[in-house]
Amino acid sequence: MTLGDAPASESTAPPTAPTTTEERRAALDAIAAEVRACTHCRLSQTRTRAVPGEGHPDTEIMFVGEGPGQTEDQQGRPFVGRAGELLVKLLSTLGWRRQEVFITNVVKCRPPGNRDPEPDEIAACAPYLRRQLEVLDPAVVVTLGRFSMGHFRPGERITQIHGTHAPAPTATGARDALAYALFHPAAALRSTEVERQSFDDIAGLPRVLTLARERRRAARSAASPEGDAAQLPAAALPAGPVDPADDAPTLF
Ligand code: URA
Ligand code: SF4
Repeated sequence: MTLGDAPASESTAPPTAPTTTEERRAALDAIAAEVRACTHCRLSQTRTRAVPGEGHPDTEIMFVGEGPGQTEDQQGRPFVGRAGELLVKLLSTLGWRRQEVFITNVVKCRPPGNRDPEPDEIAACAPYLRRQLEVLDPAVVVTLGRFSMGHFRPGERITQIHGTHAPAPTATGARDALAYALFHPAAALRSTEVERQSFDDIAGLPRVLTLARERRRAARSAASPEGDAAQLPAAALPAGPVDPADDAPTLF
């Protein structure tokens, strides 16, 4: 994947270029339109509808699943089947709603019979995910299942790292994000033990968001040429309007 895949206006923008909600919405819509017409891999031949992803253009949290299932393929929307119901339930335990996050997948078209996506299909689709990440610049990427984890936490094992975070590689398009690994909700539907773990793991997400916000604030202060804040250690930085001790931040 190369920078050339992105529109010139995105690839030439400075990394900290401020964008408005409307600009982000338009950029996401443009990516979605390309995805719906895409024929870059064989999954285009068997899909009913491509599933670009959806959510709030100002969100700090992006959920990345594996690929659309049957219901998603029929509706053109991510996580609207049984796995989606569980995802919404997990979010609701934090007081968050699906419209407040962004939800997408590693591959945007359904693998036939819900088989695993092939490496060449993941590679063909990766530029769309990268561009979505560049537009949204999320603080936290929540990976759902092995294939998404493999993209943001390469070389790890889901059974070892679920419920933990690590910086997402910037090559993914995430400028400064923590990648937080969750089991796939479909796996939780098959196992009560995995379901229990999933509720435990999602409970750790607000703390990771707080941590990610602090990291990003410290990085911005360090990069800023003026202001005393650049001299202060991260722990001493003001946390903005949200109480720094609050470990259950709201998204909006
Ligand atoms: N499973 C996924 O990985 N993604 C969806 O969108 C739905 C189910
Ligand atoms: Fe294009 Fe991705 Fe669909 Fe393949 S899975 S056809 S690369 S949108």
